[in-house]
Amino acid sequence: MNIDYSYKQPKTLLNKGTGFLAGYSHSLNPYTGCTFGCSYCYVRKMPVSLFRGKEWGTWLDIKKDSAALLHKELLREKKKGPVTIFMSSSTDPYQPAEYKEEITRSLLEVMAEVQPDFLLVQTRSPLVKRDIDLLQKLGNRVRVSMTVETDLDEIRTHFSPSAPPISARIQTLRKLREAGIPTQVAIAPVLPSSEAFPELLRPVVDLVCIDDFFMGDGAHGRRTQQLGIQDKYEELGYSDWYHPEAYQVVARRMRELYPEQQVRISQEGFAPF
Ligand code: SF4
Repeated sequence: MNIDYSYKQPKTLLNKGTGFLAGYSHSLNPYTGCTFGCSYCYVRKMPVSLFRGKEWGTWLDIKKDSAALLHKELLREKKKGPVTIFMSSSTDPYQPAEYKEEITRSLLEVMAEVQPDFLLVQTRSPLVKRDIDLLQKLGNRVRVSMTVETDLDEIRTHFSPSAPPISARIQTLRKLREAGIPTQVAIAPVLPSSEAFPELLRPVVDLVCIDDFFMGDGAHGRRTQQLGIQDKYEELGYSDWYHPEAYQVVARRMRELYPEQQVRISQEGFAPF
């Protein structure tokens, strides 16, 4: 697929945490757009995508020279109170362009020096392990949240064919854990998974966050409905899984292996600290 790449000079980087991210003082997006282009991505139905006039996943704005701006904004915001950052809410900070562009890495270099009170790194990419050296400098002020929506890679390919395979994400969680980086898995959205899912996760991660379309798309599932995601469940013969109660099946399975307090639901699972 041809991707339309542009370089943009951002005016601001730290945006106020609102809505689902109300527990955070700020969100931070190193890119605008996301070339993983997941079919279920609710950002497709947000103004940033709707007003672009191009299919979500086919374009990417690279926020160049971001490090100096973040440095300035961090110093300013830290004077006002605790700074807790969610990176990222409407892109993946470790998407393919990051291999070459290193925008996210440059932001982590700044945050290793001018440390926020807390940083949550939300990704589905094995590239995050490149930055273990910087994440280690943040100690307990950072947590890497790795999206693993299912243990079944054929299901993953149906919904997000351009995203990294599940096995690569599990290996990455293992590497992060070995390096002492606090981690969690985000089963978000809830895609159909097998009974073996908890056993796949248990050796590599202590915290499990479960979030679905109905709790997590910012519109009680309406954005997801507009995307026609229910049809994809039906095509696969998994229509029972497209239901507001389906996450409880996964939660129950996880709680057979994990202590109750280590399985968190929706917003609580993404909360800082
Ligand atoms: S990786 Fe995240 S931001 Fe990117 S398309 Fe998929 S769901 Fe959307």
